[in-house]
Amino acid sequence: MLNGVDLVAFRKQLLGWFRQFRRDLPWRQTKDPYRIWLSEIMLQQTRVAAVIPYYERFLKRFPNVQALANASEEEVLRLWSGLGYYSRARNLRKAARQIVANHGRKFPTGAGDALALPGIGNYTAAAILSIAFEKKLAVVDGNVSRVLARLGAIRGDIRESQRWHALQDSADSYLDPDSPGDWNQAVMELGATICTPKSPQCLLCPIAQFCEGRKLGIAESLPEKRKKRANVEVTLAAGVFADENGWTLLLPPPEEAHTAAPADYVPTLVSRMWHFPTVSVTGDPSAKLRTSLRKLLRDGRNGSLRLAPAGKIRHSVTYRDITIVPFRISVKKLPRIKGARRVPLHDVTSALPVSNLTRKVARAVLAASAAR
Ligand code: SF4
Repeated sequence: MLNGVDLVAFRKQLLGWFRQFRRDLPWRQTKDPYRIWLSEIMLQQTRVAAVIPYYERFLKRFPNVQALANASEEEVLRLWSGLGYYSRARNLRKAARQIVANHGRKFPTGAGDALALPGIGNYTAAAILSIAFEKKLAVVDGNVSRVLARLGAIRGDIRESQRWHALQDSADSYLDPDSPGDWNQAVMELGATICTPKSPQCLLCPIAQFCEGRKLGIAESLPEKRKKRANVEVTLAAGVFADENGWTLLLPPPEEAHTAAPADYVPTLVSRMWHFPTVSVTGDPSAKLRTSLRKLLRDGRNGSLRLAPAGKIRHSVTYRDITIVPFRISVKKLPRIKGARRVPLHDVTSALPVSNLTRKVARAVLAASAAR
């Protein structure tokens, strides 16, 4: 642990580097907690380059917390569509409603109140409150924990609770009390651009002289890998109706997923969004899909449906490796299915929120039709 003169120099060097070289990102041009909050939620598990267009589009439609609180979940999900991890969007809207109802439309400035909002954990609360309000709260996320593990040459699984607490303690002790917002961003920036997972660029690092991992020649191997959960293979069959005018049908978002759902639980795999009729299969995909469609269709047309296979798609959702077998079902007139809505097949995202899995299915069916 650094202290005294070393700690002063350490902070000065990292902050100086950040202020000179930081990337010019849209959420760095504001102190508005709403905008910072939105960026922090969008950046979870998602690359900066992917986030920027979503962030700008979202703010155009929902420029403040009141606008977001007034929106329907469906509209929020539609603007989030393609960014993944949709519980983030659902929680964002729920939290906006709580901020309007309980905090006079202002993001709370206390950690306790911030942590009570849906979708906000220790990292997100510390990031928002330090950047927007200069609260002295140190962040620890994946990037920061890697930097800290290397700086302190910490071996073993850093996600193990004791080590994680030790990392939080060292983050707290390093935090510059005069500039907590910039400090947190500086550590995150270092992790994102210099102290990267595979090849840390120690020669360019502004704090290399303080790094125990580098001195011991083990920086690149830190943090040590933790045991990965084994991946599970899942196969799905999806039925894509297509009428003569290019319209298709999507089923409504499934109800809340039950806890301890199996790996092939379709509502989870379609991110509880609008989706094509989809079933999990182990044997013949068309037979299982046909049986499922029989239950859905109420006008007895199932027997005459022609299921044309449209290749295979690969997709992954956390630990699941999914193979989807889509079928085009060409019909003169779309069947009636309870709750289903008509959308153009070439643009299924135009009116309804859908997951990436559903987009891929639509694309595969269109590509297969074009190739015929
Ligand atoms: S010296 Fe290398 S390993 Fe250490 S913090 Fe800097 S980039 Fe990371």
